[in-house]
Amino acid sequence: MAVQVLQVDRSQWLMPYAFEQEAIRGAGGEFVIESCTTEEEVVERAREAEILFVSSSRLVTPAVMDALPRCRLIVRWGVGYDQIDVEAATARGIAVANAPTYCSDEVAEHAIALLLALARQVVWSHERMREGGWQRPSGPVHRLTGRTLGIIGCGRIGSKVAARTLGLGLRVIAYDKYRADDALRAFGVTPRTFEEVLAEADYLTLHVPWTAETRHLIGAAALASMKSEAMLVNTSRGPVIDEGALIGALSSGRLAGAALDVFEEEPLDQASPLRSLEGVILTPHVAAYSIESIEALRREMCATAADWIATGWSERVVNPEVRSGLRPRIWE
Ligand code: NAD
Repeated sequence: MAVQVLQVDRSQWLMPYAFEQEAIRGAGGEFVIESCTTEEEVVERAREAEILFVSSSRLVTPAVMDALPRCRLIVRWGVGYDQIDVEAATARGIAVANAPTYCSDEVAEHAIALLLALARQVVWSHERMREGGWQRPSGPVHRLTGRTLGIIGCGRIGSKVAARTLGLGLRVIAYDKYRADDALRAFGVTPRTFEEVLAEADYLTLHVPWTAETRHLIGAAALASMKSEAMLVNTSRGPVIDEGALIGALSSGRLAGAALDVFEEEPLDQASPLRSLEGVILTPHVAAYSIESIEALRREMCATAADWIATGWSERVVNPEVRSGLRPRIWE
């Protein structure tokens, strides 16, 4: 019997999932596409599935895991897997995997694009010219060379940002709670404590996952300890910043600028002050996007399913501790 891989929440731009259909059939599985909007629908439609593919919905809750005894692997279409309660999955013998590498280049490029746009006031100048103007930026503009970039979270994306910005002549310092200082030095980065990065950075860029620990990591206290000329870039996850505190810091001039690809609530509310504040650049959670990254994402997703069908495991599992207690496969 073919292992069923079920797409819980179909994405219009991937329809009809021709690549996935063929790749998973070739691996000995069956690919089923659903567009569930409630937990009840997931329970009803995913009964036969061993592997669930999840795009952005948060429907695969612990209760849904309990109601789907065949489910052994949940794969998230992306790097961040904060949609899935990994602890609850592990307790139930379910593996969780992500697509860890497909967009590291793109997100690093996007973070640097935002950094350059902020530092050079590109968007401000563009907007004035659109209005018929021809003037110098009102705020201070500094030469990047010799200034300090702080990176919080120096994993796949953070280390790529470091490598590229060192080439721009920036001094790069970083804080990463789970990486040894020597690993950071190997990228040419100077390791610092969290407090030191905040105090020394002229530009700060965030590359941590959204976890209980990183929620509101950049809150009022962190913002107050930054230079008033500092600029903040976030391409990680919205809740890493306390958006209310950020709006306060930008409104009062406590912080010079911010460029954000991710938000606490997405899409960003029409009434959010971020949409109109001076010194703010916004993009709609598109840092990962490129023609190449989408192809790579589809390959990574299908490779995970194919590995699982062939061997019962995947190197992309993010809770490897589950391996010894995995749920048994149920065959008809
Ligand atoms: P990664 O796992 O390679 O790196 C994350 C780093 O953060 C790790 O080195 C880890 O040690 C560090 N870290 C974790 N918790 C920390 C903490 N409390 N304090 C300091 N450091 C901590 O992940 P990555 O591929 O570099 O991606 C980072 C994040 O970027 C993802 O989790 C995802 O949420 C986000 N992302 C966003 C987009 C987008 O489209 N905007 C695309 C891809 C990824």
